[in-house]
Amino acid sequence: MSRFFSTKHASLTPYVPGEQPRDRRYVKLNTNESPFPPSPKVLLYVDEAGVKLNLYSDPECLLLRTALAEMYGLKSENVMVNNGSDESLNFAVMAFCDSEHPACFPDITYGFYPVFAQLNGVPYREIPLTEDLRIDIRDYADLKGLIFLANPNAPTGIALPLEDIETILRQNPESVVVVDEAYVDFGADSAVGLIESYDNLLVVQTFSKSRSMAGARLGYAMGCPELIRDLQTIRYSTNPYNVNSMTLAAGLGALEDQTYYDANARIIGRNREYAANKLKELGFEMTDSMANFLFVRHPKIEGQTLYEELKARGVLVRHFNKERIKDYNRITIGTAGQMDKLLEAIQEILETRQI
Ligand code: PMP
Repeated sequence: MSRFFSTKHASLTPYVPGEQPRDRRYVKLNTNESPFPPSPKVLLYVDEAGVKLNLYSDPECLLLRTALAEMYGLKSENVMVNNGSDESLNFAVMAFCDSEHPACFPDITYGFYPVFAQLNGVPYREIPLTEDLRIDIRDYADLKGLIFLANPNAPTGIALPLEDIETILRQNPESVVVVDEAYVDFGADSAVGLIESYDNLLVVQTFSKSRSMAGARLGYAMGCPELIRDLQTIRYSTNPYNVNSMTLAAGLGALEDQTYYDANARIIGRNREYAANKLKELGFEMTDSMANFLFVRHPKIEGQTLYEELKARGVLVRHFNKERIKDYNRITIGTAGQMDKLLEAIQEILETRQI
């Protein structure tokens, strides 16, 4: 830390992104990326936009907002686009939290939520999941803050039914409820249809997962026009050109090829089922994941050990060194070939240990 670093950030613990190692080629199942390339339409659109890089990107992002609005049956004033959904989440904390309105979220969920609260100097409250890592909606009433619900949750992959989301919205009329749907396309129900009925609902989605565009950094938030206007105020006070022109064009190209992405999401769903069944045969226990990852533990091998032994065999998964979940590993669902390599490596590890 330099002597210039503001004391207000002295105790900030930054988010630790998943490894992006360069030392060798891994079967990379640690950051929930798509194993499939973006649609060819994406690169066509990017090519054209690249030629105009001398100009600023459209601060209104109007073409993409309009296309997204059309896709979800909304108006463009219901939608804003951001530099990855991480930015949407940070803007939500900036816009809706203060000393009297804490950020509230489960104790086991996406690790960036507490970081955004710390960064913005606002309190946060972690609400314990039940013993079996589920949300008990009775714990989410009258919270008077900003509520983050990843649906499906990460890293468990467990999805809340829409009735439960609606109950939480109703139980918290004084709170903005952010439903973070980064993984929704792999089997959960989206809350977008509730936007018309609830002025405290913000749905956040991303192009990073089902749309194979993690490297382009493109996310979007959807809600009533007033909430979106508040977020736009924060955005225009931070970086009105937060989404570059190539990424805006890439997003438009992606929306032109939704059938391609739907087909990929179905393949991931099938591979998830295949991997889950095989892992169960090998003695693994797991949560009921609706996302593009599995959250698994084996009663006879520690989470950290399995992570290390897989890495030594060229397979990268994600281990969280957090008390309640340290026995688990999160495994991204890849192609069938990648799943077979994972399963072979696991089988070898278990055999070597005579498990
Ligand atoms: N929400 C959740 C639950 C996530 O797991 C992630 C990915 N790490 C994000 C949001 C951020 O995604 P993006 O790439 O759109 O910033």
